[in-house]
Amino acid sequence: MRSDPATILHDLFGFEAFRGVQERVVTRVMDGLGTLAIMPTGAGKSLCYQLPAVALPGCCVVISPLIALMHDQLRSARALGIRAASLTSVDADWRETQDRLIAGELDLLYVAPERASSDAFRALLERSRICLFAIDEAHCVSEWGHDFRPDYRLLRPLLDAFPLVPRLALTATADAHTRADILTQLGLPNEGLIVSGFDRPNIRYAVKPRDGMGRQLAEILATNPGPGIIYVQTRALAEKLAESLGGKGRPVLPYHAGLDPAVRAGNQAAFLASEDMVMVATVAFGMGIDKPDVRFVAHAGLPKSIEGYYQESGRAGRDGDPAVATLLWGPEDFVRARQRIGEVEAARQAGERTRIAALGALVETGGCRRAVLLRHFGESPPDQCGNCDNCLAPPACVDATQTAQKLLSA
Ligand code: ADP
Ligand code: MG
Repeated sequence: MRSDPATILHDLFGFEAFRGVQERVVTRVMDGLGTLAIMPTGAGKSLCYQLPAVALPGCCVVISPLIALMHDQLRSARALGIRAASLTSVDADWRETQDRLIAGELDLLYVAPERASSDAFRALLERSRICLFAIDEAHCVSEWGHDFRPDYRLLRPLLDAFPLVPRLALTATADAHTRADILTQLGLPNEGLIVSGFDRPNIRYAVKPRDGMGRQLAEILATNPGPGIIYVQTRALAEKLAESLGGKGRPVLPYHAGLDPAVRAGNQAAFLASEDMVMVATVAFGMGIDKPDVRFVAHAGLPKSIEGYYQESGRAGRDGDPAVATLLWGPEDFVRARQRIGEVEAARQAGERTRIAALGALVETGGCRRAVLLRHFGESPPDQCGNCDNCLAPPACVDATQTAQKLLSA
């Protein structure tokens, strides 16, 4: 061991203290215990494996689903002086990385799941010293999750081939079903589950029926001068809304995967630097974007899941200052969502149905929105948060909710 965790935390990472559950997670990992850490985006999951990677002799293998994410992490790890590398299709220095791994000169090695599960990779690890397997975005292993990736299922034989190496699974989003599934799929003990608080008290949640969407969004813009994101379902709508909402003195730009990469990068850079810009975006916008002063996130339609909604709306108010999350929905959103159930493979339909029902509960409740969100993540919040639309102005009657109920039970 090179040093104790508290010293590394301070001297290498430059932090005064662990945040939230980080210390519990790091302690378990350092004790060689299998762990599943559920921590919201921005809570500091990376540190939970980067610190042990430095503290323990041997290399930590990090399984991560996206090259862009890996390379972001690589850059920040290297900036701290951590010896980190990745083996991906765009890396040219494979030979050198493998040599360094075998020679014990790496703290962190990032790989995608399909690479990690290959025989060649296992053979490489057998010639190396490994201190930890960190499985990032671990919800991808579960068909119950909102982002199932079959490649994650292939990891188990690799993990089992190294029974003495502890495994740490990390994710921001996992309901009770998905959590149980991750534990099973990755062979983690039930007592290894560590869940950090999901509440974002500075975010004021509101859910409203769509009723003249253009006007409703313009109103949100008018009352929230700071940077904001409007999430839409389609690229076409992103373009259209960016155009119709723009030109009122406020910069409004579209963002979606269909844009020319240079335009997309330019729009993102402009948003990150701006103090009043609004981005009209598909869910392609957000992964790895850390802008602390986003003051509002609006959804022009139903998100894919509560997990998705929590993550997307959670991009507001990372700096802790007041922020607003507004969800606009219509019955047709549920109709479309139900149609999609028929389009997914049979094994995933139950999960899809559960997801839609959970969204139904969020939009239809006459009670506290935050309570619905937090209960979804297994917490036991008070009945009233005092900072959502229903707590601030209790609905006179909850008749409108019958629409949603009918659609859900159809
Ligand atoms: P996650 O992967 O959970 O979304 P990250 O690992 O990217 O979160 O960390 C989010 C931010 O929090 C980073 O800027 C990181 O440097 C910071 N951070 C992590 N741990 C701490 C800590 N103990 N004290 C202060 N800042 C921290
Ligand atoms: Mg992360």
